[in-house]
Amino acid sequence: MATVVKATNVTWHEGSVTRAERHKLLNQKGVTVWMTGLSASGKSTIACILEQMLLHRKKHAFRLDGDNVRHGLNKNLGFSAQDREENIRRIGEVARLFTEAGIIAITSFISPYRKDRDAVRANMANGDFIEIYVKVSLATAEKRDPKGMYKKARAGLIKGFTGIDDPYEPPENPEIVIDTETCTAEDAAGQILAYLENRGYLQA
Ligand code: ADP
Repeated sequence: MATVVKATNVTWHEGSVTRAERHKLLNQKGVTVWMTGLSASGKSTIACILEQMLLHRKKHAFRLDGDNVRHGLNKNLGFSAQDREENIRRIGEVARLFTEAGIIAITSFISPYRKDRDAVRANMANGDFIEIYVKVSLATAEKRDPKGMYKKARAGLIKGFTGIDDPYEPPENPEIVIDTETCTAEDAAGQILAYLENRGYLQA
């Protein structure tokens, strides 16, 4: 469903500080590292390690995490397809603001629908959106089940749970694929860090 635009008579106000100036000040480039994958695939675990690795290198990074955002900004949204779409749209806008501010925004949301993720990408400048498919089989995710969510979903206590009775659409062309069945969370974070380094995001 398209977002209804209710804000009329508002005009974009250009600032006088360029993005390049911001990057020079921070000695890095703003970017969104968008992790997508099944619940328990490892998104939050990897995001925490990556954030720490970046901060240790004196890079400004900030995590936007599914459950945390649903406690605040998105607490009025549920898990219907429409609410999931709005959830991702708002997070995409927040991630874009962080990116424009020169921060490395690391998002960890299931973000199950391809079109919602693609809409976030389309809303950002080229190179500002790095999609990371945190891959795991449903069987392994269910075995990990750190929050007991799969168990509840299988018992019918949670409806519309991704992977059980709601679809997950894997990315078709993600920048990085991480298979958390064959690599540790530390290796996964290291792989993303290396990508950021090699593509020049960790300098102005
Ligand atoms: P998500 O954010 O995708 O829902 P979490 O990071 O909250 O997933 O949970 C993933 C769980 O799987 C954690 O308990 C973590 O310790 C465990 N785990 C086991 N192997 C890995 C791995 N290779 N990468 C990431 N997490 C792993």
